Amino acid sequence: MTATTPPLIPFFPPDLFEDDRDLLLDVVHEVATDPAQRFILGDRTARFEDLLRTDLGAADVIACGSGTTALTLILRAMGITAGDEVIVPAFGCAPLANTVLGVGATPVFADIDPHTLVIDPDAAEALITARTKALMPAHMFSVMADMPRMRALADRHGLRLIEDSAVAQGAVLDGRPAGTWGDAGLFSFVQVKSFGGPGEGGVVVTDDPELARTVRMLRNHGQDGTHRFRHHLIGMNSRFDEVLAAFQLRRHPGLARRLARRAEIAAHYTEQFTPLAAHGITPPSPGTNGRCYYVYSLLSEDRDKLKQHLADHGVDSHVYYPRPLPHQPAFALAAPADGHWPNAERAARQCLSIPIYPHLTDPQVDRITEAVLSFAPTPAPVA
Ligand SMILES: *Cc1c(COP(=O)(O)O)cnc(C)c1O
Repeated sequence: MTATTPPLIPFFPPDLFEDDRDLLLDVVHEVATDPAQRFILGDRTARFEDLLRTDLGAADVIACGSGTTALTLILRAMGITAGDEVIVPAFGCAPLANTVLGVGATPVFADIDPHTLVIDPDAAEALITARTKALMPAHMFSVMADMPRMRALADRHGLRLIEDSAVAQGAVLDGRPAGTWGDAGLFSFVQVKSFGGPGEGGVVVTDDPELARTVRMLRNHGQDGTHRFRHHLIGMNSRFDEVLAAFQLRRHPGLARRLARRAEIAAHYTEQFTPLAAHGITPPSPGTNGRCYYVYSLLSEDRDKLKQHLADHGVDSHVYYPRPLPHQPAFALAAPADGHWPNAERAARQCLSIPIYPHLTDPQVDRITEAVLSFAPTPAPVA
């Protein structure tokens, strides 16, 4: 680092909500001083659910405490329990395994596609047994899971389909929005997700009225919403915050623009990085169908060196995820001891995510691009 080194471009920008600072203060004041004094599951939450229902063309949207509890609520509402198996991708975030284990069922880890990094439908099919109750694909960094094939697989074997669309709000595959492909889907509003906010929150999305009714009860201690303190089910506390609802309601009109900016940056990265395949760096394939650029991940044969190189050039980066799920200490007991998930293992060694938030300026995008390009030892020969 020299005095001329430009300032670091962070992976988690501290000014993510800078444009909405006044809005955030306004909604805190508004909710705090509202005579209704409802801080959870009030009118704003109901309006936010309505907005997303309309946005998605889904029958029901139920707001809850987080994306993780959305998964738990779905599993519980589907009656998935001890002795049942749920097929999940071997590469992804912890909730894919721990929510299944949390309801007493067993996660069965399927390998991923080496390029798209989402669950491989053939690998999933090979793992179906008499105990399998559900398939739980997850959309990854920039690509939605192969939902048409997962839907067909679920239908052919009479299984429930849980679409972990936590990261993919706003993505559309073949004209159909992420979150609406499964028997139930979900979104997370944690800051890094595509419609992230300053706190915890999630929603369950479903067209199944019975499932929706059960999820609605489970999220608030098994009450039916009409009779206070009458508990029909053994529920939990997974409720939605009115401040976050008010904030997200007012930010929703800008979501499409922010997603378009992410996609624009991603298209630029992919175009620039495609020639790097000859140097062991592989960007995602180009395109917008079924895409959600909440994160932009490269595969690099020399990932740790690339990460250091970027840091030396003032570009922060992040590794999602350094270990496949079945190799995590907490989940290994649920996996066959001699199991191998070669594509998940390779992804864990090679994945590196670079900054892609919507308020990156063009000069910053250029700096990030240059930093990656300068890692390649020699330019690929021009054809
Ligand atoms: C973030 C995430 C979740 C969990 O959402 P939280 O709101 O953080 O609990 C679940 N699944 C996937 C794929 C995620 O990326």
